Amino acid sequence: MPIHMGVVCDKCRKVHFIASSSGIQLSRTAERMYLLTCRFPCPEKREFRKESMRPYRISDDVFRRGYAEESEYEIVWKG
Ligand SMILES: [Zn+2]
Repeated sequence: MPIHMGVVCDKCRKVHFIASSSGIQLSRTAERMYLLTCRFPCPEKREFRKESMRPYRISDDVFRRGYAEESEYEIVWKG
């Protein structure tokens, strides 16, 4: 399965993918920061740094959807 960069929501453990999620935008308030807006019904909305993204192994279908539920991804540990 392919590997994509994503950021995890601390509240519901969904992973959002930078290249395909409609919930990730560039922050308007801080340079080099992104804004994550999680999906309903999760209320999470927070800014994060590009460096806090991690590689995840996911299926193409999950990537196209933009986010993965906790059971649908596998984190790829580096180093
Ligand atoms: Zn969430």
